Amino acid sequence: MKALTYHGPGDVRVEEKEDPRIEHPNDVILRVTRAAICGSDLHLYRGLVPDTRVGHTFGHEFTGVVEEVGPEVKTLRPGDRVVVPFNISCGTCFYCQRELFALCENTNPNSELACGVFGYSHTTGGYDGGQAEYVRVPFADVGPMKIPDDMEDEDVLFLSDIFPTGYMAAEMGEIKPGETVAIFGAGPVGVFTAVSAWLMGAGRVIVIDHVPYRLRFAEEFAGVETIDLRKVDHIVPYLKELTEGRGPDVCVDAVGLEADGSALHDFLGRVLMLQAGAATVIDWCINAVRKGGNVSLIGVYGPPWNLVPIGAAMNKNLTIRTGQCNTRRYMPHLLEHIRAGRVDPKRLTSHRLPLDQAPEAYRMFAAKQDECRKVVLVM
Ligand SMILES: [Zn+2]
Ligand SMILES: [Zn+2]
Repeated sequence: MKALTYHGPGDVRVEEKEDPRIEHPNDVILRVTRAAICGSDLHLYRGLVPDTRVGHTFGHEFTGVVEEVGPEVKTLRPGDRVVVPFNISCGTCFYCQRELFALCENTNPNSELACGVFGYSHTTGGYDGGQAEYVRVPFADVGPMKIPDDMEDEDVLFLSDIFPTGYMAAEMGEIKPGETVAIFGAGPVGVFTAVSAWLMGAGRVIVIDHVPYRLRFAEEFAGVETIDLRKVDHIVPYLKELTEGRGPDVCVDAVGLEADGSALHDFLGRVLMLQAGAATVIDWCINAVRKGGNVSLIGVYGPPWNLVPIGAAMNKNLTIRTGQCNTRRYMPHLLEHIRAGRVDPKRLTSHRLPLDQAPEAYRMFAAKQDECRKVVLVM
């Protein structure tokens, strides 16, 4: 089969690779129909994720048709169309029983750190991902969700990660009716957090970014106010000014470790190598949110960072929540929001390209060229 493979920082190729086979009785093999490239794939692409091996295939957001089923698979048959959550869960362990699917103990030898994730290095189990013609899906009775006949694959593709992830970010903010929510980052997760904040009854939603085309899209797609960081001297006092001096009720970090905007964090990280990336946005969230408010961290972070104002968080009585999305738990009811027309996720897609052009797609997305918001590879 053809598959995207990693060859080193900034070097991915589409090559011939051995077809995946059934390895366990509860595996299925999918013929991939759509695979998206995620912002978090760019961390892999840039070589920032430990133990990313040459030959590894990325891709944790995909839909497909069941081609072959293992002998113990009960819920799927060849020909079924499915969307698959990015994290791999066993369905029966302590955490899976509590629907904390991202904490599954049985799908990654490093399970103290994370559960198994498709196409996300050997740090998360070394499972090959879906940016390929075929992919092996373990625990097939647990993760994959059948796509209803009246829906297209692209209608539900983003249930694999970014819509549930944005939804959980909003949920962790414990938004009460009428509250003001500030979201750092107008990328795909940021805009789905914004949409979800409205679904939860927010009174005002503000999205902050420094890329004009992403802000424009957030306005159109989610009907939010936006702040262009390049036009503001200091974002924290600016946000307070907009919110009666107190600050937003809820602040969401939908950026993570590759934040721009702080020379100090940049110096600590990229120059002194004292931390992986920059904790700029955590800093802003803690300082901007009102006293007694909630901070939700959904951006991806790696090893420890410096200068997080934890004292301010303590003195302000903040609630800080964070976590990798328990994707499978949210998929069924978010599917109903899509079906009812309240959210049309596929509007996010800015580029549809064949698998062969995946290396160009990575280059374009990494450089934020051609107003690239989201690439979907079409098989
Ligand atoms: Zn993703
Ligand atoms: Zn489990």
